[in-house]
Amino acid sequence: MKFSIITLGCKVNQYESQIMRETMLAEGFEHEPQYRNADIVIVNSCTVTSVSDSKAFKLMRRIKRENPDCITVLTGCMPQAFPDELENLMSADIITGNKRRGDLVPLINEYINERKRLVRINPHEDGAGFESMSISGFNERTRAFVKIEDGCNRFCSYCIIPYARGRVRSKSLSDIEAELKALANSGYREAVLVGINLSAYGNDIGGINIADAVEVACSVSGIERVRLGSLEPERMDAETIRRLSVQPKLCPQFHLSLQSGCDQTLKRMNRHYSSEEYMTIVDNLRKHFDNCSITTDVMVGFPGETEEEFSRSLEFVKRVGFARVHTFAYSRRPGTAADRAENQVDKRDKDKRSKIMIEKTEKLRHSFLKAQLGRVEPVLFEARRQDGLFEGYTKNYTQVYVKTDEDISNRLLDVRLNEVMGQGCRGDIV
Ligand code: SF4
Repeated sequence: MKFSIITLGCKVNQYESQIMRETMLAEGFEHEPQYRNADIVIVNSCTVTSVSDSKAFKLMRRIKRENPDCITVLTGCMPQAFPDELENLMSADIITGNKRRGDLVPLINEYINERKRLVRINPHEDGAGFESMSISGFNERTRAFVKIEDGCNRFCSYCIIPYARGRVRSKSLSDIEAELKALANSGYREAVLVGINLSAYGNDIGGINIADAVEVACSVSGIERVRLGSLEPERMDAETIRRLSVQPKLCPQFHLSLQSGCDQTLKRMNRHYSSEEYMTIVDNLRKHFDNCSITTDVMVGFPGETEEEFSRSLEFVKRVGFARVHTFAYSRRPGTAADRAENQVDKRDKDKRSKIMIEKTEKLRHSFLKAQLGRVEPVLFEARRQDGLFEGYTKNYTQVYVKTDEDISNRLLDVRLNEVMGQGCRGDIV
């Protein structure tokens, strides 16, 4: 039988989809890129906002409409976070959560034999270890995501993720090393370490932290670049940053989640840092990493956010001078503390603030790109674009486009960056 997987959401979900893909292939199923032609369609869902949920609902309906005979599987964060509501809400044939990915094939076989709808969502248990999983390849040719952590203990007041993902669990250092060695043997030169709350890596093991994971990843020969996925400002102390900075393979690109630059808003969000503490981390990163890019997520219109609080947040974002900001308007998430707050911000104000934040942060992006001009940077090339230029990324994740007739994918070449072009820089191979 042929299967298709559609992934919604973050890099951790992309990694877990790859786990499912490899499990299905190992059991003799055949991969089919087009869900319309597949016998089994698996949707790996995200539930970070209500918008993510409605995307999954719409998608499930579309799959059933366009491929009515296929077996549909809904998995991922949405069923895990809302196990009680799903039976009524979804038209999927099999509904399962984030836990026990290894049960996927037995579930599918059970459905094939009995043709009865299956709902199997295993709850997270406190104290459970990291679910053993590793991949041998990825759908991108040059860069592989490697999940080294799952879960979060933070309970930010707007976030449902700790319910969907459970508490922090970390992959052992020896498993990280083994997985990266396998990826290097398959030809991957760049690894991105990802997690739900990556900065909390090692909390559950004790005595180790994210710097230990990076040191192990960087020690694998064949892997030439190591990147970190999204980080929380948790445990990013001066000593950790110093240890990271002596790893030459670690790319100077840090996505450090901010959410708000206003201390009062941060408090209501139940984020455990102040804007000044955040700034100290940024200063430390910049002190230790030459030409590093700091990117972030910012939420506008959180319950109770006044015009003044928004202005403070905006001023702080400008002060940091982020290389890129992902702005999003607060969206209510049933089951969270922020959803129960009475002082919800009007949609018009949220839209207005989003627009202002996006405009200002686009200028910051442009300044960052302009600051890259004239530099000669090693670029790991990935693929040819539709306009004929070849594209790749510098260590600080600046997208670079060059003109060449050669196929330079998966090659690391020095490029002089000459002009800003769209969201990246155009350059010449030197
Ligand atoms: S740190 Fe906060 S926002 Fe991030 S996953 Fe944990 S609870 Fe959610």
